[in-house]
Amino acid sequence: MSKIFWSPGLEQLEPYTPGEQPESKTLIKLNTNENPYPASPQALGLLKQYDFSDALRRYPDPESRELRRAIADKHKLTPEQVFVGNGSDEVLALSFYSFFRRREPLLFPDITYSFYPVYCQLFDIESRKIPLARDFSVQLQDYSAPAAGVIIPNPNAPTGRYLPLDEIEALLECQPQRVVIVDEAYIDFGGDSAITLINRYPNLLVIHTLSKSYALAGLRLGFAMGQKHLIQGLLRAKNSFNSYPIDAVAQRVATAAIRDTAWHADNCGKVIATRKRCEQTLAEIGFEVVPSQANFLLVKPPQPGAEAFNQALRKRDILVRYFNQPRISEYLRISIGTDAEMDQLIRNCKEILASQS
Ligand SMILES: *Cc1c(COP(=O)(O)O)cnc(C)c1O
Repeated sequence: MSKIFWSPGLEQLEPYTPGEQPESKTLIKLNTNENPYPASPQALGLLKQYDFSDALRRYPDPESRELRRAIADKHKLTPEQVFVGNGSDEVLALSFYSFFRRREPLLFPDITYSFYPVYCQLFDIESRKIPLARDFSVQLQDYSAPAAGVIIPNPNAPTGRYLPLDEIEALLECQPQRVVIVDEAYIDFGGDSAITLINRYPNLLVIHTLSKSYALAGLRLGFAMGQKHLIQGLLRAKNSFNSYPIDAVAQRVATAAIRDTAWHADNCGKVIATRKRCEQTLAEIGFEVVPSQANFLLVKPPQPGAEAFNQALRKRDILVRYFNQPRISEYLRISIGTDAEMDQLIRNCKEILASQS
């Protein structure tokens, strides 16, 4: 293949590798932290009942006003404090571009969401990985060096560990002159959101997604919340790139999903209950389980170890995530599925263990 047409540097980019999305439906899929239940019937019902012909003939609302109003209402903000994008991955990309292209490095934990280094490369942002402690907890004192900013998922991925709000505040105070992004993709599964700090911290940007707790990963909808000056910055970048990112269908469906607060609370409750049960059962059969406030568990399996377990489970049609990288190569990340799926997982883990002896 001839790469002579590519811009210089393109070949050196190392793109993000998403988790496997198999075409077979018989697999138990616990590898990408999707929600195991269908989304809000209010949201899904729209797709069956609503006539989108006019909405699709026209360009969508470039400002997603109704959707931003729904998000602002739910989180007690104003619509001017809300920015929406095509999945939080897009919101993250625009945030990196808007806030972190500086002389100093961007700081993030050494074990974290692997899209961050990809954006750094794309936008020529230097980065510094700050080691987590041995138990994967965040070491706050390491975040006060001169920096372009800080980004941290809370709960962290793929560890699941959660940082309480007073520690998020300490982090914000480490970098008063720089943006601190708290990527709260998993916050609804048990943590307190930093949204309540927004009006007190001009440097705080909180990012949420509909992909996990709203069961709408296929819709591609994420949003950022922060003081107006940060949102204005994001809008400048977005409108220089794509002024209609949220399609008309996604705007409607997402608005209905956000407004269905009862479904959302109930769904999170179910996932949390299943997580707690699994945490206990896996520990009983010899897995080390990292404390999680997310919809997944990072676990260290006993013999024959993580890589062998990953392969053995794959043969039994169960997909989990194995990261062949330093510090977590002995671990598996297992998304929380339905109770029936998790029972199957546990039964298969017991069989794999039994076949060892
Ligand atoms: C899943 C995930 C996202 C991506 O969400 P999308 O809205 O689907 O793009 C962002 N950050 C973290 C930490 C995630 O785990």
